[in-house]
Amino acid sequence: IHVCCCGGTGCHSSESEVIVQLFQSELESRGLADQIKVIASGCFGFCEQGPIVKVFPDNVFYTRVSVKDVKEIIDSHLIHGEVVERLLFEDPSSQKKLKADLPFYSLQERIALRNCGFIAPEDIRECIAVDGYQALGKILNAYSPEQVIDTLKRSGLRGRGGGGFPTGVKWELTRKSQSDQKYIICNADEGDPGAFMDRSILEGDPHSVLEAMAIAGYTIGASKGYVYIRAEYPLAIKRLQIAIGQARECGLLGEDILGSGFSFDIELKYGAGAFVCGEETALIHSIEGKRGEPTVKPPFPAVSGLWGKPTSVNNVETFANIPPIILKGADWFAGIGTEKSKGTKVFALAGKVNNVGLVEVPMGTTLREILYHIGGGIKNHKEFKAAQTGGPSGGCIPAQYLDIPIDYESLSSIGSMMGSGGLIVMDEDNCMVNIAKFFLEFTVDESCGRCTACRIGTKRLHEILTKITEGKGTLEDLDKLEHLATIIKDTALCGLGQSAPNPVLSTLKYFRDEYIAHVVDKK
Ligand code: SF4
Repeated sequence: IHVCCCGGTGCHSSESEVIVQLFQSELESRGLADQIKVIASGCFGFCEQGPIVKVFPDNVFYTRVSVKDVKEIIDSHLIHGEVVERLLFEDPSSQKKLKADLPFYSLQERIALRNCGFIAPEDIRECIAVDGYQALGKILNAYSPEQVIDTLKRSGLRGRGGGGFPTGVKWELTRKSQSDQKYIICNADEGDPGAFMDRSILEGDPHSVLEAMAIAGYTIGASKGYVYIRAEYPLAIKRLQIAIGQARECGLLGEDILGSGFSFDIELKYGAGAFVCGEETALIHSIEGKRGEPTVKPPFPAVSGLWGKPTSVNNVETFANIPPIILKGADWFAGIGTEKSKGTKVFALAGKVNNVGLVEVPMGTTLREILYHIGGGIKNHKEFKAAQTGGPSGGCIPAQYLDIPIDYESLSSIGSMMGSGGLIVMDEDNCMVNIAKFFLEFTVDESCGRCTACRIGTKRLHEILTKITEGKGTLEDLDKLEHLATIIKDTALCGLGQSAPNPVLSTLKYFRDEYIAHVVDKK
């Protein structure tokens, strides 16, 4: 028997660590510690119902478990085989208690999150038991770098950090750049408010990212990798440190990996919380010990990156997809998703939705399916008003697009973007002008100040929005907003400034009546 307790940050904050310790001590006192293994896993995704405890092989899913429930689960379920009904999830549509097969998971396809909530991330043996490092072994044995690139290109994998650039092409460009030294960087500087996709992957399955970084190193010809991770992610950092140590001990990182002659090692670098450092050139400057400011591209990092050397910067979720692609093949991955957006995408579902949590769905799944089937609908039976995808600089999607398939092209066609996977839901009570102002406040704070359009332009946008929300605006202010937002979008230096006006432009487009009401209703 295997008892898996969620050890992700969300459940951690609800005492899941104490729950794990209590399971262990109670089983020891009953002389059952040898027969029943208790592990702290990564995030199960169903954060709304945490802390979660899952019992294998029975596949029973307990929700909202507290310290006082531990003895009952042991005595009733683990010893006598009787499931504790009161801790099961009650399906709101059938009002039945479910042991397994929860609707929350039924439309999900977990590739990047495949091991989160299933293995103990601090034990490399559990990772190896589920094919960890098999893909690295396979390519070191049988693949040339060109074959890895070909596999990735055929798979259709695109960067999950927001840009959506084809990963195989990025690796090919970096491979072709001639240099005595090249670098791999894992971008774990997840900064969108409410987003925790990358953190959960690193907390639940750190080895999958390390393995993929080593595969990247072999492919482009790099011997050194960096994980640039927010210092605000202490649990992910701890698990990465443990994982790197274990991988080195097992000969899966370091000199002469698996006797192949290929050497690759990984170091952690900590970000201090600047949102702009998620932009790859700013991130590279930060690792170099310089101020985290973006620079104009070209040159692209593939040609001149870290310390002027060719560098491939890839996001955590992108890396987590790579070992399964190598093991199962490009055609398998390319068979999931839409014509131009292959595979799955992880979203952090937050806001006015019943099932807040982490979901991974095939590209092309509709917003309605995510919100109403997986998300369980809008809180308190309110009307859906909008969903913000792409983080603070994404766009607000109105109800008329609930049936749009979620993929890179569809989202940008309606003024939003995929971004890294933040998905915030708004209901009928939200004022969309205030929402636009709220997101803009974030980007104004996070602007690095390097270029005028972003540094001053976003401030002016914010001032006009404040004037409107205070009832002092005029109809001409709406035109000024639109004009200024378009100029910033066209002239800002990096992605932060270029996308900062999106919440303003998308709400002006779809919720102009709310702006007009603020202006017309002014006293
Ligand atoms: Fe800095 Fe904004 Fe310019 Fe980007 S767009 S370089 S964040 S000032």
